[in-house]
Amino acid sequence: MTTDKKVRVRFAPSPTGGLHLGGVRTVLYNYLFARQHGGDFILRIEDTDQTRFVPGAEEYIFQCLAWAGLEPDESVKHGGAYGPYRQSERKELYRSYAEQLVENGRAYYAFDTPEELEQMRRDFKTEQNPSPQYDHQVRGKMRNSLTLSKEEVARLLKENTRHVIRIRMPENETIGFTDMIRGEVNFNTSLVDDKVLLKADGMPTYHLAVVVDDYLMKITHAFRGEEWLPSAPVHILLWQYLFGLEQMPQWAHFPLILGPSGKLSKRDGAKYGFPVFAMNWTDPKSGELTEGFKEKGFLPEAFINLLAVLGWNDGTEQEVFSLEELIRKFSMDRVHSSGAKFDYEKAKWYNHEWIKKLAPEDLTQRVKEMLIAKELPVTDDGALQQIVEMVKDRTTLLPDFYEQTAYFFQTPENIDIAAIQPKWNEAKQLFFTELIRNYELTDTWEAAVLENSFKEIAAASQLKPGEVMLPLRIMLVGGKFGPHVFDIAAILGKKETMQRIRHTLGLLN
Ligand code: GLU
Repeated sequence: MTTDKKVRVRFAPSPTGGLHLGGVRTVLYNYLFARQHGGDFILRIEDTDQTRFVPGAEEYIFQCLAWAGLEPDESVKHGGAYGPYRQSERKELYRSYAEQLVENGRAYYAFDTPEELEQMRRDFKTEQNPSPQYDHQVRGKMRNSLTLSKEEVARLLKENTRHVIRIRMPENETIGFTDMIRGEVNFNTSLVDDKVLLKADGMPTYHLAVVVDDYLMKITHAFRGEEWLPSAPVHILLWQYLFGLEQMPQWAHFPLILGPSGKLSKRDGAKYGFPVFAMNWTDPKSGELTEGFKEKGFLPEAFINLLAVLGWNDGTEQEVFSLEELIRKFSMDRVHSSGAKFDYEKAKWYNHEWIKKLAPEDLTQRVKEMLIAKELPVTDDGALQQIVEMVKDRTTLLPDFYEQTAYFFQTPENIDIAAIQPKWNEAKQLFFTELIRNYELTDTWEAAVLENSFKEIAAASQLKPGEVMLPLRIMLVGGKFGPHVFDIAAILGKKETMQRIRHTLGLLN
């Protein structure tokens, strides 16, 4: 195998829509493996299926990777010595490989029209085989260079008759490879159809392009989702026929990510109210918006962490990992082969852990950006950091900081009077009148001082502090939440605190 060469891995997305969590996990494992081995991480755009082209999807993939902090070393954007990195720009390169296969008897020209293929599906349909494929049983009865005379084939090609090139799958051979996660995997070639390698428009299919490009880009390890495992026999044969099996990268197929009902899908996300895409994706055709982890308020550190452990663990109880730790600890032989269940509650737990784990200045900057985007008048970073530290235990997602901090920057519009009114009485009214008088005279506007005076006045009024604490909180915050109420008052300052108490007293009378 290829272990003595410089490690080169690739992520090879087709830009057809939002970037699914499973896609980002593939990026992550590739990235970790490359960094761990001092190798290169390549991003190759697999856009040979022109019918599935979606404007904006390529740019979106780059944005997602940038947000997650998983920048490729080589790509359309990052450059590199093995370009072009977009398959549509490599079109001319693939035909000669396909033709080489035809010459060697490993592939053939097929001239069947869509109607003829339709007819074949009807003719060969049986109860045991409800959807017949173009395979070793069928190819001898179709219009291709295996059944037509040499002269006829030459004439059809000369006349530019629409045709494809198909691989000629051997009959009843066992071929296999060693998957880095699954071990030995074998296939019977008779079960695989004669896949198209080169399409009528001259574009290669995924099968041909992936093998040619992995070869030309000197890829040493190819990691991809389990859904690609059925394609492996075709790729093994192409490697064998074109470049020799010893050139083939080592493969690993990652387990599926499971949702509440099987493979995690966009529909699960919509149904259960959680994101499945890295970032917001708007379908350019339908205008439909699918929410992303970023916009939902996940920190990229948490997102990476939760993806890393969807299918991998380090063999200990540790759950929270930084990217640096993952680079050190990740290993392919600890990736599971069975599906990994996505648990949204657990995902949120990771975010909460990362909110606590980030350096206060760093967290404050991120909260600040979010608050400013929501038009809160935040100016003083020092005060904001103090506030953020006070409330962060009460937050799970970034936008929670809005609710938890907005009242520091603007007077609450709604005061939950209904939570005070039923138990409001003369004694409490007098207590607050006295509190205002006392606070007006206070020179040292500090939480401990304010709390002391509060408790003394409560005692003198024969009230339990708890009875008047909730009203005070509602006066300052607007509702029954938030950190220690005297810390809030200290940060609000004398003028604002007094105004808020007076305002609510006015509402109560
Ligand atoms: N183009 C394939 C995809 O969309 C790449 C699979 C592979 O990595 O070989 O995922």
